[in-house]
Amino acid sequence: MKALLRILSLCLSVTVFLSGCGWEQDSFYYQGILFEGFDPAKHQPSPAFLKNITPTKVTLSPRQIKALKKCVDLLCEHGLRYLLEYPDRFVIVEAPYSFADKPQMIVYLDKEKVNLTFTIDDDWENKLLNANLGLMEHSGQFHFQGTPKLPNLLRIIIHEIGHLVEFERLKFNWQGKFVPHPLNKEFVNISWDQDRYWQDKEGFSEKLHNIQSVEGLLLFLQWFKEESSFFSLSSSMGMNEDFAEAFVYYILKEYYNYEINFVYQGRVVLDNLQAPNRYRRQKMAFVANLLQNELMENK
Ligand SMILES: [Zn+2]
Repeated sequence: MKALLRILSLCLSVTVFLSGCGWEQDSFYYQGILFEGFDPAKHQPSPAFLKNITPTKVTLSPRQIKALKKCVDLLCEHGLRYLLEYPDRFVIVEAPYSFADKPQMIVYLDKEKVNLTFTIDDDWENKLLNANLGLMEHSGQFHFQGTPKLPNLLRIIIHEIGHLVEFERLKFNWQGKFVPHPLNKEFVNISWDQDRYWQDKEGFSEKLHNIQSVEGLLLFLQWFKEESSFFSLSSSMGMNEDFAEAFVYYILKEYYNYEINFVYQGRVVLDNLQAPNRYRRQKMAFVANLLQNELMENK
């Protein structure tokens, strides 16, 4: 009798588990947008990316499906569904990072990042500590605070779409070195110096690496807010990263009223780190103009 009861209760809990969570899936459509788990028989990323991915089949867990649907909802609610149509599809893959396969117009999302628990402000802290390991010992004293709380997955999706826009619309091009194009020159000239082999004009990453203390961090962030042309800590990694991040934060600011503050010992000591200064205003106007044209074409 006891054994029977045990089996019955096991059956019951399995049923509850399955009905509550659904099954793992290879792929799904949501609001007409296609998401697929990576399948080596089906997906052949361009050679530049092939070496970085793990070529194993990925199935999507109910939790991952929910996270992706939530991001679709967040975009649709703000009239941004057309952005999701930019890629041919989204593929969830085991890889060290997400990437846009530009020639194929496919966005590959790093499986580990497909969740709703890691937020954009968590990502800021992570990137800061990765760029400057010395700050790790003080990390308990400060954090970034984004309002509203948004999943970093949403930022990644917009960022990768930004790369496709950059590729298709702005013709960013490298043939051993950066090739300027009339469509991107206006944007690129804001932060990058053609006379110095297209280095960034701010020495951004050096400033970031050289922070020695929390006081130094605060001074850096003050400078970032007032003087930097970049929108995030990873913008200076390259012109295309600069564009993708400007694209992200233009959208988050315009449609979500997103702001990010710096909190030290429980108090906001610096608000709105991405406040529009004279350089950022130029970038925002550039992205706004680009999206305006995009919307016209979609009508
Ligand atoms: Zn990128």
